Amino acid sequence: QAKRIEESYVSVERTLVLVKPDGVARGLTGTILARVEAKGYKLVQLKLVDATRELLERHYEEHVGKPFYEPLVEFMLSGPTAAAVFEGNRVIEGFRSLAGTTEPTLAAPGTIRGDFGRDWGLKVQQNLVHGSDSPESAEREIGIWFG
Ligand code: UDP
Repeated sequence: QAKRIEESYVSVERTLVLVKPDGVARGLTGTILARVEAKGYKLVQLKLVDATRELLERHYEEHVGKPFYEPLVEFMLSGPTAAAVFEGNRVIEGFRSLAGTTEPTLAAPGTIRGDFGRDWGLKVQQNLVHGSDSPESAEREIGIWFG
């Protein structure tokens, strides 16, 4: 109980949310953003972006060299991405909780990836959404996508 109260601190944050090309192509952009808004987070920026390789190289710099890096970039180049900034108390952690774990098959029902994400099969990189994982990443990523 003490730990629960300790964790319920107030921390108004911003996070970068991406509806990746699979989500946009499947017509799920509105559905996904509506879930985030319904949770009470405030939409503060929104645009559709045809990402370039240069932008993606910066965004995914921590993954450069990993086996899934090149297919991930190719996937992210395959169509437009909806980029959004949401604001709210503990929104960074809160959005990742709404999104569910990275692999859609394992993501809990009720989460975005759990409800709409398709089994990875060979297309390991498709999981509908991205959300920043720390305040530092959020600041960096918002700068990359919104300048
Ligand atoms: N990814 C992948 N294969 C992996 C791990 C990650 O294709 O084995 C892709 C997937 O699209 C994921 C992204 O790379 O969302 C970034 O990976 P990260 O570990 O940061 O996952 P996330 O924070 O998006 O859940």
